[in-house]
Amino acid sequence: MAAEHLDRLRREGRITIVGASLAGLRAAETLRAEGFAGELTLIGDEPYEPYDRPPLSKSVLLGRADPHRTELPRRRETDATWRLGVTATGLDLTAGRVRLSDGDEVEYDRLLIATGVRARPWPKESEARLDGVFLLRTRDDAAGLYQRLRSGPRRVFVIGAGFAGCEVASACREQGIQVTVAERAGAPLVGALGGVVGAVAADLMREHGVDLRTRVTVTALEGDATGRVRAVHLSDESVVEADVVVVSLGSQRNTEWLDGSGLGAGPRGIACDAGCRAFDFRGIVTDDVFVAGDVARSPHALFEYQFLSLEHWGNAVAQAETAAHNMICDGADRRPHLWMPAFWSSQFGVNIKSVGVPPMGEELMITQGSTAERRFVGVYGHKGRVVAAVSFDNTRWLEFYQRAIERGAPFPPEYPTMDRRAENRHPVPADFPDPSLPTHGPMVTLSGWSPADTQLVFHPARH
Ligand SMILES: Cc1cc2nc3c(=O)[nH]c(=O)nc-3n(C[C@H](O)[C@H](O)[C@H](O)COP(=O)(O)OP(=O)(O)OC[C@H]3O[C@@H](n4cnc5c(N)ncnc54)[C@H](O)[C@@H]3O)c2cc1C
Repeated sequence: MAAEHLDRLRREGRITIVGASLAGLRAAETLRAEGFAGELTLIGDEPYEPYDRPPLSKSVLLGRADPHRTELPRRRETDATWRLGVTATGLDLTAGRVRLSDGDEVEYDRLLIATGVRARPWPKESEARLDGVFLLRTRDDAAGLYQRLRSGPRRVFVIGAGFAGCEVASACREQGIQVTVAERAGAPLVGALGGVVGAVAADLMREHGVDLRTRVTVTALEGDATGRVRAVHLSDESVVEADVVVVSLGSQRNTEWLDGSGLGAGPRGIACDAGCRAFDFRGIVTDDVFVAGDVARSPHALFEYQFLSLEHWGNAVAQAETAAHNMICDGADRRPHLWMPAFWSSQFGVNIKSVGVPPMGEELMITQGSTAERRFVGVYGHKGRVVAAVSFDNTRWLEFYQRAIERGAPFPPEYPTMDRRAENRHPVPADFPDPSLPTHGPMVTLSGWSPADTQLVFHPARH
């Protein structure tokens, strides 16, 4: 009976994917590659074909790539109905139906949710509307910001020194544009990589001429009589004149459209099991709703089965492939999503790459090179085992540490390593901020063990 049902689903079932970007596209391609012959519908609120986001804060801002030519390469022809420029506004789990902003409804036998995240906006709406204030998530955002950078601004002000904020600052400096970066924590990248590595990033930024202000928050954006931003006010009472402001305060999961649907969805994302099946709000797993990409929270065996929310390109691809496979399989043919978190960035001429879950580490050991030279590998430890590694211009070692994480290798590493320096014989505290405090985009968020957890709310600083 179950085999017959599955066979029918594969031949003539209806699969709907909400979110037509990286995860949505790769899932659609995988479904067809694995023999799904039924009706496939993709719903995406952006008017564009799926495009790539990493270039938006890198080559696009440098004028090396056209923001309107960053479409994702297609792996194969994929027969599907694309409903672009249409937002999913609601989900009826019992009827198996998605409601759309144009009043239409789409029925499904299996649903994949891949609605990703959006940039967290500046909380004061009238200030956010000032001309010259930008977010950076979409290709329109990048096109607008690039145009403004080309027009020769006197100073760009970046609010938030997570990866995206740092990459924007780097692109500005590379073009000779004056830039100030304000960060609530003591250094850039602290939420993602901790204070020790953050201090290296701070030095790097300052050496490249960035006016970096730490342990401050922005209290107000000031506009001129024509509605253009002209200055930024800070919590230390200083005022910086700037004609472009980039708000880089991390992201918000696109889950509001699921309010009241009964799914386990909230500000941390949509909880799913290791097979990408969504949980409902009671913590009971569904069998026809799947999740993939930035919007998903999924447990990982290597990291104490904690739910991880990852904003990583590679995770979106791998999870989409696993979800698509599991949507049209059953029982033992299903496979778990056990992707090793991995992230890259390039800024100020340095390639930064991490594997594993750095924010889980209490301790850090520099195993190769030195932070002073900005060429090193740092290994993070949690309860006596290796959980993550980061490299600055030293990528070739990361695969080795990835294997160490997979094996649960002991921390601190017991073996001698090449290029190990005398001053780095002992681990130091990795110096992550209190995880209950919001940071500007850690990219890997450990979000507890409860599939029904919807408790986290972001509170902007009060002044
Ligand atoms: C500027 C920038 C730089 C980045 N750089 C890197 C990098 O260097 N390395 C790295 O690993 N990752 C990087 N990333 C992250 C990477 O791009 C994401 O992990 C990836 O895009 C996630 O894909 P996704 O399909 O899950 O989500 P998204 O790409 O966010 O796509 C979700 C889609 O769903 C749509 N949607 C949302 N709600 C609805 C709804 N209700 N109805 C219909 N459609 C909806 C959204 O508009 C969007 O089109 C970067 C991201 C940005 C923005």
